[in-house]
Amino acid sequence: MARILIVEDEAHIAQGLRYNLVTEGHEVFVVVDGEAADQLIRGGDRPDLIVLDVMLPGLSGIDLCRGWRAMGVRTPILMLTARGFDREKVLGLQVGADDYVTKPFNLEELLARISSLLRRQDWHREAPAESLGIVRIGQCDVDFARGEVLRGDEQVRLTSLELRLLRHLVAAKGRIVGRDALMEAVWGFPSGGATRTIDNFVLRLRRLVEPDPARPVHLLSIRGQGLRLDVDPERPRGR
Ligand code: CA
Repeated sequence: MARILIVEDEAHIAQGLRYNLVTEGHEVFVVVDGEAADQLIRGGDRPDLIVLDVMLPGLSGIDLCRGWRAMGVRTPILMLTARGFDREKVLGLQVGADDYVTKPFNLEELLARISSLLRRQDWHREAPAESLGIVRIGQCDVDFARGEVLRGDEQVRLTSLELRLLRHLVAAKGRIVGRDALMEAVWGFPSGGATRTIDNFVLRLRRLVEPDPARPVHLLSIRGQGLRLDVDPERPRGR
């Protein structure tokens, strides 16, 4: 559940979106003009995500976003831009928006993009690699501070991408992480459906952490869902 601020002057759009986000379990508040939104954020309110319309009475979404980023506000911002105004998209990204959706938008797509931004945000909050220290995966230890896998007498250095991928899987604590989300978090761009990159890394990591890479018990690929890291398959799940 996240606290989401919607800044949108068109009531039917704001309410429709609010309804759907509340149904998903989020706490949502709507502000209908730029100045009110600005007061809220300048007053210290920090929602988990802001949906920001560009065309607003008072201050525009572009002005707001620029101002907030200049103040050091790091909240993810998704902009709503008008169709036919391509400049808005570019400007929005230039002033620090994280993503944009063009109006009239497809609701499913907008909701998916919001979830994706919130997932990324969760990861930023979770442990950075160094603080993970040493994580035991079956018979080997991953030393995140040194960037190495230790297995018996063997010591293998991990590349930074291998480390990042492992870190995200460890941070998920046994939950399945979608391939698209991993692509964005580790490589920094959406996969667009092409996730072979991840598969190659998975094969490499399995050679390091699995007792038998052909029959993985730790680094599991869940068909149609994503990847899951089980550091201790002997232990019953959920404990
Ligand atoms: Ca508007």
